[in-house]
Order: sequence, then structure tokens, then C-alpha cells
Amino acid sequence: MNHSSIVIIGGGPAGMSAAIAAAKQGLSCTIVDEGFALGGQIYRKPTNPERAPIPHPRGEQLRTEIAKLTQYIEIRNGHSAWGIFDGLRVAVTSPDEHTELLQSQALILAPGAHELVPPFPGWTLPGVMTPGAAQSLIKTMGVAPGKRVMLAGTGPFLLAVACQLIDAGVHVVSVLEASSRPAWLRLPLHGFRTPEILVEGFLYLNKLHQSGVPVRYGRIVVSAQGESELNAVQHAPVNAEWFPDNNCIETERVDTLLVGYGFVPRNQLAQMAECKLEFCPEVGGWIPIRDRNLSTSVAGIFAAGDGAGVTGSLAAAHEGKLAGISAAFFLGAVDEATFTAARDSIEQKLSRLMPLRRALDKISTLQPGLMSLVRDDTLVCRCEEVTWGEAREAVCAGSTTYRSLKITSRAGMGACQGRFCWPFLSRLVAAEEKCSVTDIGPPSVRPPLGPITLGSLAPESLKN
Ligand SMILES: Cc1cc2nc3c(=O)[nH]c(=O)nc-3n(C[C@H](O)[C@H](O)[C@H](O)COP(=O)(O)OP(=O)(O)OC[C@H]3O[C@@H](n4cnc5c(N)ncnc54)[C@H](O)[C@@H]3O)c2cc1C
Repeated sequence: MNHSSIVIIGGGPAGMSAAIAAAKQGLSCTIVDEGFALGGQIYRKPTNPERAPIPHPRGEQLRTEIAKLTQYIEIRNGHSAWGIFDGLRVAVTSPDEHTELLQSQALILAPGAHELVPPFPGWTLPGVMTPGAAQSLIKTMGVAPGKRVMLAGTGPFLLAVACQLIDAGVHVVSVLEASSRPAWLRLPLHGFRTPEILVEGFLYLNKLHQSGVPVRYGRIVVSAQGESELNAVQHAPVNAEWFPDNNCIETERVDTLLVGYGFVPRNQLAQMAECKLEFCPEVGGWIPIRDRNLSTSVAGIFAAGDGAGVTGSLAAAHEGKLAGISAAFFLGAVDEATFTAARDSIEQKLSRLMPLRRALDKISTLQPGLMSLVRDDTLVCRCEEVTWGEAREAVCAGSTTYRSLKITSRAGMGACQGRFCWPFLSRLVAAEEKCSVTDIGPPSVRPPLGPITLGSLAPESLKN
């Protein structure tokens, strides 16, 4: 068994900042990350540097700081954390299928978030993907996702990806933003403390304007069309609750549609460690309850970054730093005065970011009209190919929790274990049952978090 003072799951801005903060207090840390290099989603390193864009300078800066602290920080790239046992023991599997239990005195969970794509007619056609998937193709390999691309959903991430596509020479047909234009025009009122973020947004809009890409507010995609692959998209204007006006549908020919309605925190490890969760729709759904020190309800387990509530990369880095110094304080490596001074300073930086963040969250909060797109023959669980008609029948027969619906309809039983379908499916179930998503609950979790091979669990003596 491997021993480190602190195990950190996730090597994005939150995880890297946590490791730096704790290592500076002389503590040994192990960062576990599934990716082939540290960076997480935003600071992802290219696999094909000749064709991919230049990596983000903030990511490079964090990687350089980590490299200076190798005496304290061990990096496990390509390792998946799939189970938390007996408090602080983390099961991880390496790319060569070697499984190990990492034992530590404190654990920092920084696993980030994944994208939310609501089901709608045609959403499983080849050619429909998430903005993050397209970004990953460009960033890591320098590969374009398609030739005529439309982006749809909500949030500034759509604008960022549209600009990256333009830089990669892709023809972006349009960007459809579900929320209204007046809501976005009011945003600067909340951003006077963070002008640099507002400027970033204006630069995106300016680039789209210069490139002749229309940003159409108050519109959503109602269906993706094609026989064996996407060839057209139907979209319509929506009201304040995002119910489409089906009398004003427009059809546009595209070969790629990127749909993203924000992010969902990866809360499964926190849940597995028995940390208490709360439902917080404005930051993506179920998140671990934390105190001021970012400690979860389980002593010794801290949570930072998008995995504990989607707040963006800058906040994730500050939270990571706070989690790192809090873990050091918890382990007695920092005195109280130093700790409280560091915490106050980080809290101030975080509070500067929050007004704009909260305003963005409000604009992009999912509205009920999205659910009206789902028909009985729409797939709601891709892994097990369950339609809403099948799931709804099970709901009407009394299967209203994740567990019971999984057993009766197989929805959520596949490889993703409800991670991708449940955030939206739980909303559909709540609407059908006329109750709140909080009553429905998050999906239950158990190890392994994702698929692992039997071979990776075999003792070394049985291998080869
Ligand atoms: C697909 C995607 C693209 C994004 N692109 C942008 C962008 O262009 N601009 C922008 O401003 N923001 C972007 N964001 C948001 C931004 O990346 C986040 O706000 C920020 O990265 C959060 O930092 P984090 O450290 O909390 O999580 P992340 O950066 O997501 O890092 C989490 C890390 O944890 C690892 N991980 C998760 N679970 C496990 C596990 N079980 N075992 C091992 N490792 C694990 C992941 O591999 C990942 O590297 C994007 C988010 C996503 C999901």
C-alpha cells in the first residue's frame, strides 16, 4: 500500500493548486489523474503539439510550480480512482492495469465536472456531440469535429468553443443561446469587480461578429435530423421558460451540432466516501456540503473546484489552494494564525469572482421548456438504450427513485451508472411525479466508479 500525507484526486486547476499549497507546507502529496498529463479540462495538454493550439499560460505556470516541488508531489497520470474504502483508502488503477490502494491522512477531491446534454429528438445521431468533446479534439489533437458546425445550449462556454473552432478553420454556422439577449446585456452590471472576465466575453463576441457568425439569443434546437448521420438541425425561438414556439421552426443544414447546457459536478467519489450532499441547481446539481475550510462532512476529506459546485477555473484554483492549506492545517502542518490569514486572503479573491458567477448561473439555469422536447421514443439512457416511453411507464408503475427505475427499466444501469442520464432524467421523473428533484435524489454509487477489467484486480502473482 502506498502512503502519502494527502491524496488528491484530479489534476486540474483545483487539484494542482491544492498540491502546491500543501507541498509548500512540507507535506507529501499524490495527485491521481485519468489524463495523460496534469491540466484538467481547461489546461489540457496537447497530444499532438504540432497541430494543436498553444497550451494556456496559466496551466503551464501551475505545471512549472509542480515541477519545482517534485520532492513532495508524486504524480499518477493515467490513473483512475474508482473506489474509496474504510475512510481514506483510495483504489486506483494504472494504464497497465495495476491496481493499488492509496492510504493517506487527508483526501482532497477535485474531480471537476462533466457536460450536461439534455435528450431531444435526434440527439444520438453521429455528428451530434458536446462542445467539450469538440474542444478536446482541437486542443489535444488539432482535429476539426466537422465542416459546418452549429453550437447550441447556454453559457459562455459555447462562445469560447465557437472561437476555438474558428481559429481551427472550421465554418461555424451559428451559436444558439437559449437565454434571452436582455438577460445577457444586464451581465456587465454584475461584473464590475471582474472586468477581465467581461473583457474575455466581449472578445469572444467580437471575434464571432468579425467572422460573420451570428449569435442568436432565445433559441433552442428542437431536433437533429438525418438517417444515419446528422445533416440538418431544426431550431425555434423560446419564451422565458424555454418552451419553443413550434410555429417558427427554422431548418439549417449542418454536419455537426455541439450541444451543451452547462456542467454537472462529478460528485460520485464524495458520495462513495459518505460525504453528505445537497442539491444546488445553480451550480450544477448534487454537491458535497462543505464548511468554510472546504472540509466535507467526513473528517479529513476536502472538496474543491467544479466537482464541488461549478464555479469556473479561476475559482477552482483558489478553492484548490484553500483545500490544500486546510488539509495542511488539519494535519497540524500549519499554525492557526498562518492558516486563518491564508484562508481570509483566498476568501477575498473568491468573493470578487462570485457576483459575475452567480449572475451567469442565473442566466443559464435549466428551464422546464427543455423537457418538452423529449418524446416517448426519445432515448433517455444511451448506455442501455432506454426510451422515455419505457422509463415513464416504469415511473407510472411506482419506480420513482434511481434504484427502482434502474431495476425496472435498466435506465442508468450501463457503463456511466447514471452519471450522464440521471441529471436530466431525474428532472423528467420529478416533473412526471410533480415533486422536486431533491425528493428523487442522486444516483446511488458503488465501486467501481467506471468499468475496470477483472485482470486489473488480480494479484500480481496471477498475472502473466
Ligand atoms: C469538457 C470541458 C471543457 C471546458 N473548457 C473550458 C474552457 O475552454 N474555458 C473555460 O474557462 N472553462 C472550461 N471548462 C470549465 C473549466 O475547465 C473548469 O471550470 C475548471 O477546469 C475546473 O477545474 P477543476 O480542477 O475543478 O476540474 P478539471 O479541470 O475538470 O479537472 C478535474 C480532473 O480530475 C480528473 N478526474 C476526475 N475524476 C477522476 C477519477 N475518478 N480518477 C482520476 N482522475 C479523475 C479529470 O481527468 C480531470 O483532469 C471546461 C469544462 C469541461 C467539463
